[in-house]
Amino acid sequence: MGLDGIFSKIAKFKRKAFLPITAQGDSGPLDSKFSGIPFLEEGEKWPVCPNCKKPMQLFLQLNLDEAKKQTKQDCGSGLFQLFYCTSDTEPRCDTVCDGNVPEGTCELVRVIIPKGKPQNIVVPKLEPNQIKPVKITGWMEVEEFPSGTEIQELNLDEKIAEDYELIEKIDDENNTIQQKDKLGGWPFWIQSPWLLECKKCGKPMQLFFQLCSQAIPEASLDYFFCDGIGYIFQCPQHKEEVVFFYQES
Ligand SMILES: [Zn+2]
Ligand SMILES: [Zn+2]
Repeated sequence: MGLDGIFSKIAKFKRKAFLPITAQGDSGPLDSKFSGIPFLEEGEKWPVCPNCKKPMQLFLQLNLDEAKKQTKQDCGSGLFQLFYCTSDTEPRCDTVCDGNVPEGTCELVRVIIPKGKPQNIVVPKLEPNQIKPVKITGWMEVEEFPSGTEIQELNLDEKIAEDYELIEKIDDENNTIQQKDKLGGWPFWIQSPWLLECKKCGKPMQLFFQLCSQAIPEASLDYFFCDGIGYIFQCPQHKEEVVFFYQES
């Protein structure tokens, strides 16, 4: 069975993923970016880590309405924001607060509907090394199929999941899953796949954004998961339900 044969069997799991097209430097407070100046409401202070009280770094802000216009994918409305504590004072918040799991507390991950005029913000001094802003200017569309392991672990299809030969073939030959920053698609797992359920409805959440820490050297997002990948998952129904976690090798 060739590649086409395999993909025809798992065609229904095909997802579009979008790789960000980026440029160095910051953009407006409502724009999509890695690091830089986020949108904060009037009177809102720069988010600090609940543990060490130091300012957290903006890892990612996505303008969801803009992304929807550009990709035709519905990932909700408003702004997605992920702030994360990168302080390296021992013991690190990342360790103490279980930053690698969805329940981690050294982060702020949210979808907000921006109201009012953006504030004039000065980025606080961020430690240990401040991420340089990189703006997202567009998206490149690719197609992805899940791994055999993912099909099995998530029991996406009972028949296929029981066909061990096919599962093995998919794992061997499916190299469509991008190990890059991307919006949507299938996760490139470093360890085994995780099944995450929405707190509101209990349904499985899906990959919303994959954050490869070294994918954008200008941003030098090489923090605790420097040899790993960060995952932001979202409920397909409740698009404000988002979680962040990471895996490392
Ligand atoms: Zn902290
Ligand atoms: Zn839900």
